[in-house]
Amino acid sequence: MREHSSTVFGEMSALAARTGAINLGQGFPDTDGPDVVKRAAIRAITEGRGNQYPPAHGVPELRRAIAAHQQRFYRIDIDPDTDVVVATGASEAIAATLLALLEPGDEVVMFAPWFDLYAAATSLAAATRVSVPLAGPAFRPDAAALERAVTDRTRVLLLNSPHNPTGTVFTRDELAQIALVAERHDLVVISDEAYEHLVFDGSTHVPFATLPGMAERTVTIGSAGKSLSMTGWKVGWATGPADLIAAVRVVRQHLSYVSSGPFQWAVAEGLALPDSYWHGFADQLQSQRDLLCAGLTAAGLSVTVPQGTYFATTDVRPLGYDDGWAFCRDLPDRAGVVAIPHEVFHDDPDAGKPYVRWAFCKRPEVLTEAVGRLRNAFA
Ligand SMILES: *Cc1c(COP(=O)(O)O)cnc(C)c1O
Repeated sequence: MREHSSTVFGEMSALAARTGAINLGQGFPDTDGPDVVKRAAIRAITEGRGNQYPPAHGVPELRRAIAAHQQRFYRIDIDPDTDVVVATGASEAIAATLLALLEPGDEVVMFAPWFDLYAAATSLAAATRVSVPLAGPAFRPDAAALERAVTDRTRVLLLNSPHNPTGTVFTRDELAQIALVAERHDLVVISDEAYEHLVFDGSTHVPFATLPGMAERTVTIGSAGKSLSMTGWKVGWATGPADLIAAVRVVRQHLSYVSSGPFQWAVAEGLALPDSYWHGFADQLQSQRDLLCAGLTAAGLSVTVPQGTYFATTDVRPLGYDDGWAFCRDLPDRAGVVAIPHEVFHDDPDAGKPYVRWAFCKRPEVLTEAVGRLRNAFA
């Protein structure tokens, strides 16, 4: 695990603290989720629900709410008793699924840039990650390149749409091409859909399990942290066919055993919030995206406008840099802002070199201040 010992978030957050910079590095909202969901957590604590070890695979009320959510938004039918496991965030759900499905030496294919946990959890499973580039500046998936990366050792395809860090939302057509690869090579698919509700401009999130033939080979991952803006609560889940979920349950119960007791009850209420919540949430985030992207453009950066997630990506070359790392190291002193270089989400450091990720899940006044600083520094 030595290669995973430091994370860029530590270095960049320390830089932000030392310089007083605005931190657009780490992806957490600076506004909490709905008050009704907070009150539900307080009520659960007061009424003594979840203060002691909850059931190992999640409280039944939450498992039922997750199943109802999959039905309501995607017409996916799952059995809350056998097809759901609640975890300590999407993070533990992903790690437990990889540990459950992989033997040492197996290969996992994933698009790069990837979420850093994918690399570390693959190493924990003593498996080998194989990266397929999502090439900038468009960052669209290439199913033919994916298929070329598959070998007879490939066991798992790890997908993420809406995609962190690029903000790409895979289209139904792109997913259908990927599904053919999964089918031809008999891969199990882990579909990380943590940002399922954070999509913009009327684009739709297509769960991988809704593609023909994919439900029986797909473990879908969800996150209350992302969907309800409560990233500190660490409630996530995996859903899928009973045999795969049974394997995930065995591993997961030996990791954290259980977690987030009262918060599980609150998340069950949160997932049932009316459409007005979900639309308002995406609309608000979309306007923050627009504010940030306009400001980045005005500062002279070349922006790939994201269709989803918390993040926008820029190419830093128009500002005279050819290396995103060098740019991000200078940025706090030059402009009083922190961002994250794509390089840290790649095996091949040259692959993401000119690209930098910026988080817009921050209050409009914070984003306005940040883009003002960037304009003063660069424009
Ligand atoms: C934040 C994030 C997660 C982890 O979610 P938690 O519920 O906070 O553990 C998983 N995948 C992606 C792509 C993320 O950005």
